[in-house]
Amino acid sequence: MDLTAANHRIPLSDGNSIPIIGLGTYSEPKLTSKGSCKTSVKMAIDVGYRHIDGAYIYRNEDEVGEAIREKIAEGRVKREDIFYCGKLWATHFEPERVRPYLEKTLKTLQLDYVDLYIIEMPMALKPGDEFYPRDKYGNWLYHNSNLCATWEVECHPYFTQRKLLEFCQQHDIVIVAYSPLGTSRNPLWVNVSFPPLLKDELLNSLGEKYNKTAAQVALRFNIQRRIVVIPKSFNPKRIKENFQIFDFSLTEEEMKSIEALNKNVRLVDLLLWSDHPEYPFHDEY
Ligand code: NDP
Repeated sequence: MDLTAANHRIPLSDGNSIPIIGLGTYSEPKLTSKGSCKTSVKMAIDVGYRHIDGAYIYRNEDEVGEAIREKIAEGRVKREDIFYCGKLWATHFEPERVRPYLEKTLKTLQLDYVDLYIIEMPMALKPGDEFYPRDKYGNWLYHNSNLCATWEVECHPYFTQRKLLEFCQQHDIVIVAYSPLGTSRNPLWVNVSFPPLLKDELLNSLGEKYNKTAAQVALRFNIQRRIVVIPKSFNPKRIKENFQIFDFSLTEEEMKSIEALNKNVRLVDLLLWSDHPEYPFHDEY
């Protein structure tokens, strides 16, 4: 079935479905004005987004919840129209800590349930209430955990994840691509040694052909491969722009030429934790 702005859910193997585009809501708290997350989520729902990606650790989950609840109260959507994904942070991987942490998210959102709850990253930090625990010398306090799966995957034209995609498609697993526009390029946790994805010549020239932007081409590339995208924007123009990806399609040849941009470069490389025994990015996948 062709995906449209009004109907863009794709099926999951358990019988549920997930909207193929969601609004990312991570924004560096120190650089983000109070209320901008709430305004952006409300605007995104008005534009037609039905999937919101958030986390307790983003420190704006209260605004996400308020926005969703206000849109429900206005009658714009019902709770079941919205797909909310929350995340378990690295200090709460001990089995007995999972439920209370999820309950924290629900209390913050003031919603009864989340649609998806995932492990934020597969490296445990010392359990406790401190988000980023260090010892008195400033060393990270790592923790052993027993994780066997990572549930999210960075994916964009410079990191197309072909092998992983093939594996997941063979096993009916849907991939959600974070950082689908190449991230906000925060040097604290992002590899910024490559030029910005959205300045790419091919993405821009294809954009010109279709009267679209490089961002829209990058997003279209992923959704045409049935990969869910969760671009973050708190800018009204760009929130709309990122959703306008259902009214054009890339040819097979164009898809191949974008695939060929792959540099196998992981932008969210989290090098600050690269000596963690469970650092996941030494492995090929
Ligand atoms: P994205 O690739 O979504 O890029 C976001 C950046 O691009 C922002 O600076 C945004 O600025 C800008 N932008 C958005 N739209 C456009 C556009 N049309 N043209 C030009 N610039 C644009 O990066 P993220 O790393 O934020 O990833 C998206 C989401 O994925 C996160 O917000 C979060 O929800 C999730 N995530 C989850 C992770 C995990 O769980 N492990 C890890 C990383 C991300 P502006 O707001 O000003 O528009």
